[in-house]
Amino acid sequence: MRETQSRRDEGTADTTSLHERERGLLWHPYGALSDGSHFAVSGASGPRVDLVDREGRRLTALDAMSSWWSVVHGYRHPDIDEAVARQLESFSHVMFGGLTHAPAVGLAERLVAVTPAGLDHVFLADSGSVSVEVALKLAVQHQRALGRTRGRFLALRGAYHGDTTGAMSVCDPVTSMHADFNAVLTPQVFAPLPPGPHASDAELHEWCAAVDALCDRHGHELAGIIVEPLFQGAGGMRPYHVRALQHLRTRAGELGAVLIADEIATGFGRTGSAFASERAGITPDIMCVGKALTGGYMTLAAVLCTAEIAQVISDSSHRALMHGPTFMANPLACAAACASLDLLFDTSDGQPAWARSITRLSRGLRTHLAPAATLPGVADVRVVGGIGVIEMRERVDIGAVTATAAQHGVWLRPFGTNIYTMPPYIAADDDIERIATAMAAAAGGQP
Ligand SMILES: *Cc1c(COP(=O)(O)O)cnc(C)c1O
Repeated sequence: MRETQSRRDEGTADTTSLHERERGLLWHPYGALSDGSHFAVSGASGPRVDLVDREGRRLTALDAMSSWWSVVHGYRHPDIDEAVARQLESFSHVMFGGLTHAPAVGLAERLVAVTPAGLDHVFLADSGSVSVEVALKLAVQHQRALGRTRGRFLALRGAYHGDTTGAMSVCDPVTSMHADFNAVLTPQVFAPLPPGPHASDAELHEWCAAVDALCDRHGHELAGIIVEPLFQGAGGMRPYHVRALQHLRTRAGELGAVLIADEIATGFGRTGSAFASERAGITPDIMCVGKALTGGYMTLAAVLCTAEIAQVISDSSHRALMHGPTFMANPLACAAACASLDLLFDTSDGQPAWARSITRLSRGLRTHLAPAATLPGVADVRVVGGIGVIEMRERVDIGAVTATAAQHGVWLRPFGTNIYTMPPYIAADDDIERIATAMAAAAGGQP
């Protein structure tokens, strides 16, 4: 039985039965129990995934999603494959309590080197959501160490920070799909949607005044302010004005609240700067990174903080950041992350490799997505760094968009009103053209 099973799992010959085997068995993200309709993946390399549908038809598709924004170097990158294989031959996991290892130390050194100046201390977490929990706990512990019992956060409408309980509490309370859990969520303080990049002075002024009013009312109970800097991802693929972020930076400082930058989606070049915070010329007190951290090989995230915060924690009665997951600093994941960062920040071409890639992706997306702006039903077409979005007026039909894109050899997974791409950084110019064509075709087929 065991043998049959493993042979089945290895072989791609029998992938059609995967659909049958998972039907009614497995849940997928924010989905009903599987109805057996998902594409099965039989392999992947570079920017492409090999898919098999339930009828056994095979197709190879460009992964325009980079597997939820993480696989920036594409699949089976030789450097990351090698780094993980080398670590596997050494040891794949050890507890991080009382022990340390080269992949973790090397990763922390690299993260401090590439993130905004002033973020000098690192905590490794298992996933993006967990890193947000750690950031919130760090902020609360920091307040407590200063003799304050503050435990609430100011967050933005339209925000997405993850699916765990603390993270859910700072997501948009209406649009984030978390409303069912209000009974267990800390009620946080929400500022209105931040004004867009082209907002007028009057709009900015009005928004800042609304934030100030919330700060006046709740400042004494705020442990921190948490934001996705300059670009809200899963909450709507929406860029916003640098002055809004700068205002939150100023207000956090004045209130004695920490500013947490959730760069899980925006980090590592995706929006056109290494970290979005840098484009606003601000340094957060705490920063979360994840998603692309391991080049999409494994789950891993990190929380960075300033020397000032680390000092307050070190001087407190615990002296410790009170968190410590079983798989903290998993060596395989850290090895993948080190290799990924070395690729991203390689400057042998004069500028960091991510910058060259994003400039190219941005140009391609702008050129090839522009015609979609005139399609009926399209509300907006925008490109931010290596992100391309066709925003529709109505919610999109996920199944229809996916099917149309697949016919064009592209894997898309839209949400809400957005048909979007965050292609792997290694996608070639004609890959970008194909992705844009598929997105326009999918948008054209929508009501
Ligand atoms: C994806 C995401 C998270 C959650 O990360 P997971 O690894 O899915 O837990 C948190 N914040 C932002 C901005 C994200 O895009």
